[in-house]
Amino acid sequence: MSRMPVVFVGHGSPMNAIESNPFTEEWQRIGVEIPKPEAILSVSAHWYTRGTRVSDAEQPRMIYDMYGFPAELYRVRYDAPGSPALAAQVRKALGDRVQADATWGLDHGTWSVLNWMFPAADIPVVQLSVDANASMRDYFEMGKYLAPLREQGILIFGSGNVVHHLGRVAWDMRGGFPWADEFDAYIRANVLARHAENVIDYHRAGASASLAFPTPDHFAPLLYALGASDEGDNVRVFNDARVLGSLSMTGYLFETQTVATGEQEE
Ligand code: ZN
Repeated sequence: MSRMPVVFVGHGSPMNAIESNPFTEEWQRIGVEIPKPEAILSVSAHWYTRGTRVSDAEQPRMIYDMYGFPAELYRVRYDAPGSPALAAQVRKALGDRVQADATWGLDHGTWSVLNWMFPAADIPVVQLSVDANASMRDYFEMGKYLAPLREQGILIFGSGNVVHHLGRVAWDMRGGFPWADEFDAYIRANVLARHAENVIDYHRAGASASLAFPTPDHFAPLLYALGASDEGDNVRVFNDARVLGSLSMTGYLFETQTVATGEQEE
């Protein structure tokens, strides 16, 4: 079994679930390109809890955790099965800090992207919540504990946004505010250089860091992804763009480097 990549996706507006655009086309391409996972562990910004939870329902329910959008969005179904077995493995990997929770299903952080990446919805999905009490370093460390799951064909999938400040959204703006561009560029440079400490301590970016997000829920999934990746991975940046002033769509794909030997790989 090939070692699975790790992915972090900037999910942006929930409308991306149903509107085809260059961002969703890229999600689609990635789904076709990477090996088909045995199961997906989704760390979604939209499950923000006190303490860490892992969803262990056999059949996760759809959660429409967004308000005031067109009716069509509330009719999207992503009926992927759950995996109590993967949830148990996650509990084993993270220890006492994680609690099983069968009440949660799939929120739009998960389904708005997986709808494009794996449209058949035939891969089991388990969600991991973002612990509001934990630090950036904790998120990164949890990612490290989860990394061995990659060897078992598990796709560690973080869904959030590097820059996410809804209070500063400019609806008529196509690109990003200068501070949004600056913060996203700072994170990109440090992810590419594998300077994890500069991502954990993101305040080193300077003034842009205090504008990038008011709460860590959307940024945190990147830390898990970063922790689950290592020096052996190639890092690919995709959807490198800011929208509506204060949202970043930037994503990262961490893939094991394949050494070209000229021979057929088994
Ligand atoms: Zn979101």
